[in-house]
Amino acid sequence: MFKKILIANRGEIACRIRRTCNRLGITTVAVYSDADRHALHVQTADEAVYIGPAKAAESYLNMERILAAAQQTGADAVHPGYGFLSENSEFARRCKRAGVVFIGPSPESMDAMASKSAAKALMEKSGVPVVPGYHSDDQSLRTLEAEAKRIGFPLMIKATAGGGGKGMRVVRAAQEFQDALAGAKREAKNAFADDCVLLEKYIPQPRHIEFQVFGDRHGNVVHLFERECSLQRRFQKVVEETPSPFLDERTRQNMGDAAVAAAKAVNYVNAGTIEFIVGADKSFHFMEMNTRLQVEHPITEETTGLDLVEWQLRVAAGGKLPLSQNQIRQHAHAIEVRLYAENVEKGFLPVTGRIETIHLPQGEGTRVDTGVRDGDEISIHYDPMIAKITVSGKDRAEAVKRLQQALAETAVFGLTTNLPLLRGIAKHSDFATGRFDTGFIERALKDLLARPRLSAPAIAAAVADELSALDRATTGTPWTADGWHLSGQHGLRFLAREHDGSEHVLHVTGNTRAFTLTLGGMAHEVSAEHLGGTAWTVALEGKVHVVEVLHHGAEMQVAFDTQTYDFGLTSPYAPGAGRVADEATHPVSPMPGRVVAVHVKPGDKVEPGQPLLVLEGMKMEYTVKAAVAGSIQELFCAESDMVEAEAPLVDIKPDKD
Ligand code: ADP
Ligand code: ADP
Ligand code: MG
Repeated sequence: MFKKILIANRGEIACRIRRTCNRLGITTVAVYSDADRHALHVQTADEAVYIGPAKAAESYLNMERILAAAQQTGADAVHPGYGFLSENSEFARRCKRAGVVFIGPSPESMDAMASKSAAKALMEKSGVPVVPGYHSDDQSLRTLEAEAKRIGFPLMIKATAGGGGKGMRVVRAAQEFQDALAGAKREAKNAFADDCVLLEKYIPQPRHIEFQVFGDRHGNVVHLFERECSLQRRFQKVVEETPSPFLDERTRQNMGDAAVAAAKAVNYVNAGTIEFIVGADKSFHFMEMNTRLQVEHPITEETTGLDLVEWQLRVAAGGKLPLSQNQIRQHAHAIEVRLYAENVEKGFLPVTGRIETIHLPQGEGTRVDTGVRDGDEISIHYDPMIAKITVSGKDRAEAVKRLQQALAETAVFGLTTNLPLLRGIAKHSDFATGRFDTGFIERALKDLLARPRLSAPAIAAAVADELSALDRATTGTPWTADGWHLSGQHGLRFLAREHDGSEHVLHVTGNTRAFTLTLGGMAHEVSAEHLGGTAWTVALEGKVHVVEVLHHGAEMQVAFDTQTYDFGLTSPYAPGAGRVADEATHPVSPMPGRVVAVHVKPGDKVEPGQPLLVLEGMKMEYTVKAAVAGSIQELFCAESDMVEAEAPLVDIKPDKD
């Protein structure tokens, strides 16, 4: 077995590979770009080598630098992860020449599967069913048009060098063909420096079902069952699961056999994936082979109890596959979702920015693979995937339930993610019954993104959490629980802002454990209890809710009964809570002191510069003046009250808003 492995990747997959290496007592070397100096994958590795600028082409795709790093650290093997150099046969060859083992297939099998066209031709010869279409060298418009007519519409144009859903178009009718072809070629040229395309019949209502395969250097090839990846956006996977709810035993068997035959046709060694497109009639066709570890490998691990990275290392070191086909069993059901920094409502556009706070689920049967932590940046340079959340259960129903739970416990503050979409999927009835195809997300998008309206229990829980934070922040000041009770006979006012911008003004009187919440003219009597951590119970209207409250500053996320509410909660009057609203209309005390005079009362009109009240403290007197013209809404102090620094004093309703 290897003693030291260089991991030529970043993010979650670099961390994932390191974990197995650690367990096997193998030293790991991380590589990093300028953008990743402080990244988790660097911090957790035994050694780390800087390989260049943030741009992938100059760092993670820079073969020279990576091989130099391997040699400099004395690594005996390189694990490429997925993406980057993982399917680059030239890199595999250069590793060999440098005397370092490339943990993956032989360059020859990579080449055989690199072009979707060549791979299809080879599969046809090996008796593996392929999608009917055109996959030859003649790329003239005349030939392509004639072939398109022969195949019929709808059809797909695909970049033969394609990957990641790029260079792909669905063509519904003959008159769309030329434009679509030009588009696909342009994209392919940009992404892969190769504008060769193939044409394929579009399989209607298709399901993407792939098989994990594994080969060793002793001629053994096995499969580790399927993964269904039909839930996609822009031809890219969002949710994966195994077993597929669509397959019957016979189809599964036939597909497994075909997958093994496909791998054998290229003398495949190490981990690979055979992707099939499956029609509504369960006919299946080879689409492509990914000659690497797949993003969604955790669901295979969770249901087979095997460590695929360990298998990769053993096979690369020359060992035999640890199990034969009939020893590989699948138990339980697993589902993985990919948490992306992206704006689903804006066409799934990737989002960049800082992850202020991230909460990832920890419940039973839940696995999280991530490479980020609080404060990390999602930059333009790399894939915007934040984490993979995998749940497993004894059957599909249990896994779905755990997925809902896990997603309710997940929160990312600071940037937009696809979390609402993932939650929508996990709760959709068609997902629950397994009735979906690759068009599901697009078709159901509106439903999937529908969010629940803010409800009184959700607000009550957020308020309870907020009040207890206030208590903690102000112990020993007039703003203790009793303090805000006393000096705030007028209560506290909060503003809740929903996702769609609608606002609710709330009034709260009472104390942290029992308060009256007035919302839209309705008063709710709430009793609240902190269960520890992020958990609360709130009781109102005779119902007790167990609620999870997460927040970052004013951004709240409240979850209960498998519903999740995201909203902003601001209290203009929370001292030091960082949620102070406009000081012009909500003047606060500039210092701790005593109120020695109050010049206004609710209802009074005030002009800018008009004295409102006088404070005395720190051996000086201070007059608080109005900064805007308006009328006094509320006073939060009376003559001779003691006030803390930042304590709210007055609420002015400005004349012009
Ligand atoms: P899968 O079928 O496993 O989803 P994809 O081809 O979609 O595989 O790519 C796997 C992941 O790697 C995706 O998150 C993708 O964005 C990323 N990826 C693909 N190619 C590259 C690359 N050349 N460099 C960096 N990341 C890549
Ligand atoms: P990539 O290399 O980008 O992963 P694939 O060939 O694997 O490209 O196709 C990606 C996705 O496009 C599939 O998962 C499927 O949703 C869709 N797709 C591909 N080929 C077909 C087809 N012939 N009919 C219907 N959908 C297809
Ligand atoms: Mg694919």
